Amino acid sequence: MTARILDGTKIRDQVFAELKTEIARLAAEGIRPGLAAVLVGENPASQLYVKSKIAACEQLGLASWLQTPPASTTTEQLLRLVHDLNNDISVDGILIQLPLPKQVDTKRILEAVDPAKDVDGFHPVNLGHLVSGRPGLVACTPAGCMEILRRNNIAIEGAHAVVLGRSDIVGKPMALLLMHANATVTICHSKTRDLPDVVRHADIVVAAMGKPGYVQADWIRPGAAVIDVGTNRVSDANEAESLLRNFPARLQKFRGKGAVLIGDVHPDALNTAGALTPVPGGVGPMTITMLMSNTVKAARVRRGRATSDTVQSTAGAR
Ligand code: NAP
Repeated sequence: MTARILDGTKIRDQVFAELKTEIARLAAEGIRPGLAAVLVGENPASQLYVKSKIAACEQLGLASWLQTPPASTTTEQLLRLVHDLNNDISVDGILIQLPLPKQVDTKRILEAVDPAKDVDGFHPVNLGHLVSGRPGLVACTPAGCMEILRRNNIAIEGAHAVVLGRSDIVGKPMALLLMHANATVTICHSKTRDLPDVVRHADIVVAAMGKPGYVQADWIRPGAAVIDVGTNRVSDANEAESLLRNFPARLQKFRGKGAVLIGDVHPDALNTAGALTPVPGGVGPMTITMLMSNTVKAARVRRGRATSDTVQSTAGAR
């Protein structure tokens, strides 16, 4: 059996089309949602991520601003910047690109963002809303995973969902979203005993560990849905040859480029899962998509407009 591919780029295009309609409706009322991105220092990966986020804003016709304080910036200076963005009425969403430099107190910065503009869903107020199943801004990657499941009609209610990883930005919010959607959820982490056995009981597996190809194909129950959040750059030739031994075309590409992106689930799971997100092209495109969706949602809510049902709120997931 070959798994059905859960194509994130296709869903991104659907959501973008829906957002464009909504943005046009807001424009008719004189509202242009806007995202302010704060990029500290010159980390190339962060620069690339922020560039894609700004490009997505431009594609959708959202306003965007980029603030680039130097790597030497202090917590106090960043707090002042966040304060200014909180008070700027044209800014609907504030994105603090992580990681911040070592001298900066990241928690204090994230907690200084106005929860109404917290489009990353990291603020304790939004996390509290998520825990209690109230509407709020939800972290983009797990929200994107839920969109993938829903838009592919994968049954969540009553399903046994196993979430691998318990980070604040992926694992924990993912588990809460699945629970609110009435799945029975098991959360696994590095101290979980007999992981393969736990995974074998899952109808839905969400892997967010940061370990290339760790989840073996024979851990996946035949027919299960697999959401692979892992995005690992593999450049070691032996590792790539072993992971991609059954995928000659991908291996050929690796040999040309010297690196390949591998999820946390072994590529061979394509032959055991019922449905599976590819890496790349699965969860990845959904993270920016949900950031755009959260920015439009924040604009609507802040400016007193009705909630649309483009993507479901935390409460709507119940
Ligand atoms: P993280 O903060 O490093 O958390 C990793 C989690 O995996 C931890 O809870 C850890 O357990 C658990 N873990 C590690 N090794 C394990 C093992 N052998 N068995 C069971 N659990 C294990 O990572 P993250 O930020 O959540 O990200 C996870 C992955 O998703 C990374 O590959 C990241 O690049 C990717 N990601 C992708 C996107 C996207 O847009 N596609 C977005 C965000 C993240 P402990 O808590 O016990 O340490």
